[in-house]
Amino acid sequence: MTPSYPSAVGRKPQAAFFLDRDGTLNIDHDFVHRPEQWDWCPGAIEAVKWMNDHGLLVVVVTNQSGVARGRFTLEQVEALHAHADAELARHGARVDAWYVAPWHPKFHEGLDPALLDERKPGTALFRQAAERFGIDFGRSWMAGDKTSDLEPALALGMRPLYLATRHHAGQDREWIRRNGIPTHATLWEAVRESVIPSYL
Ligand SMILES: [Mg+2]
Repeated sequence: MTPSYPSAVGRKPQAAFFLDRDGTLNIDHDFVHRPEQWDWCPGAIEAVKWMNDHGLLVVVVTNQSGVARGRFTLEQVEALHAHADAELARHGARVDAWYVAPWHPKFHEGLDPALLDERKPGTALFRQAAERFGIDFGRSWMAGDKTSDLEPALALGMRPLYLATRHHAGQDREWIRRNGIPTHATLWEAVRESVIPSYL
C-alpha cells in the first residue's frame, strides 16, 4: 500500500534490486514488528550499501499478514522501517522504498483482487515501484527466502536469487533447481558470488 507518485515515464529506466524483508534483510523471528525484534541478517547492511554504491535502486517488498491478523498495525510496520532506515544511515546505506502488502486472503474475503495481488507471489507492488521509479525489470534482481519471492521475479523477467535460510525445508527445492535459481546462505553471499561476477 503506497500513496501514488508521479509516473517516471520519460526518464531513463533504471536497474533495481528488489528485496524480501524477513529472512532476507532481518532474521525472521515471526511477526517482527518492534525495533527490538529487528536483527540484521549477517552482511545485510553491507549488501545494501554495495547496491547503493553501484547504482541499483533498493526496493523492499514485504508481505505483512500480521496486519491482517490484527497482531500489529501498519503504523508499527512503518515505524519499524524508519528504525531500519536510521540504522542503515549510520552505515551510509539506504533502502529507497519499502512496499508493504498487509492483506491476507483469509482475512480479506471479497477484497478487490487488485489489492490482494499486492501480496507476493502477486506482482502488483513490483509494478507500482517500476512505474514510480522507471525500473527496467530486465536489468533488475529479486532476492528472497521463499518461492513466493521468486515467482514474481520470474513473472516479471528479473533475475531471482534464493536465500536458503530458516524456511528452506518448506520450500519447493525441486522448483528452485528446475528454474536454475542461484542459492545462497545470505544476501551478502548472493551479492558477492552471483551479482558481482555478472558485472565483471
Ligand atoms: Mg522472507
